[in-house]
Amino acid sequence: MGADGAAERYARQVVFAPIGEDGQAKLLRARVVVVGLGALGSVSASQLARAGVGYIRCVDRDIVEWTNLQRQTLYDEQDAHLGVAKAEAAAAKLRQFNSDIVVESSVTDLSSQNAEALLTDVDLIVDGTDNAQIRQLINDVAVKHGIAWAYGGAVSSYGVAGLIRPGETPCLACLFGAQAERDHDTCDTVGVIGPITGVIASLQVAEALKYLSGRTDALRDGLVYVDLWHNEWRNMRFGNPQPECPTCGKRSFAALDAPSDALTVTFCGRRTIQLRPQAQTQLSLEHLAKRLRPLGTVRQTDSLLRFERGEHILTVFADGRALVHGVDDVAQARSFYTRYVGM
Ligand SMILES: [Zn+2]
Repeated sequence: MGADGAAERYARQVVFAPIGEDGQAKLLRARVVVVGLGALGSVSASQLARAGVGYIRCVDRDIVEWTNLQRQTLYDEQDAHLGVAKAEAAAAKLRQFNSDIVVESSVTDLSSQNAEALLTDVDLIVDGTDNAQIRQLINDVAVKHGIAWAYGGAVSSYGVAGLIRPGETPCLACLFGAQAERDHDTCDTVGVIGPITGVIASLQVAEALKYLSGRTDALRDGLVYVDLWHNEWRNMRFGNPQPECPTCGKRSFAALDAPSDALTVTFCGRRTIQLRPQAQTQLSLEHLAKRLRPLGTVRQTDSLLRFERGEHILTVFADGRALVHGVDDVAQARSFYTRYVGM
């Protein structure tokens, strides 16, 4: 695309005085990673792509399911029908929105092993996870490397958003302490309405645009809490970073330094269990597909293999990670995995 097209594309944003040509040029040079391409990530990634943020990395471990379509605006029925990887489906859509920017995808489970590789070569991390443990990991990486991150969380009809700048604002551990640790590592079980995820992600992106275009004086000094059903909107000022904070005060990074679990088992909503083998492996999906084809329905892409047998659906990724759908407990999931994938 030529310079004229680019100028036209961003005309309304450049004419917005606080951004202007100078701010737009900064956006085009900016690099962002979006962690979690669910409801929040769908909205933030598409707004950032359309705004012309020059590089966007999409990190997500899941596949598109029918329950996602109610609010995850990057996906359609075809994506759910095929069970495609969210990171890849998202990246493909973003490239359609804006072919002038670079979009990359990473179909992976963010862990202490890969977090620094995936999150540190960027100007900003955008949180779309809805997962307390992963947020602590993001916070650890952000503080350790001095990278700003846009926090956001939404459940039910309420949510919170804010831009955390290590050294300038309190970090996540200053703000919530051990409270975040009490949350369990689950996907959505509480329910959520689409509008709140749109609002919270938009609040994250507004701060992101200020930050990336160099207008830090315009940043909100605090978190904002919104409840769309009960009609509340509250600002909570940041205050200062806590000197006694284990993370930003004492620079101890518990989530990042934690050894990787033996076999991580994660519950992802009703009757879905994720299994992640301890050692980093590289599976030949082609080989596996050949082996499983006589036993059930198999569909394979570059990044995943989907195997359907009876009421069970197994989605295996190239790094050995798997989602087992239609199981009632961990033992059943483990046995299904070891029987058909091996360990
Ligand atoms: Zn802190």
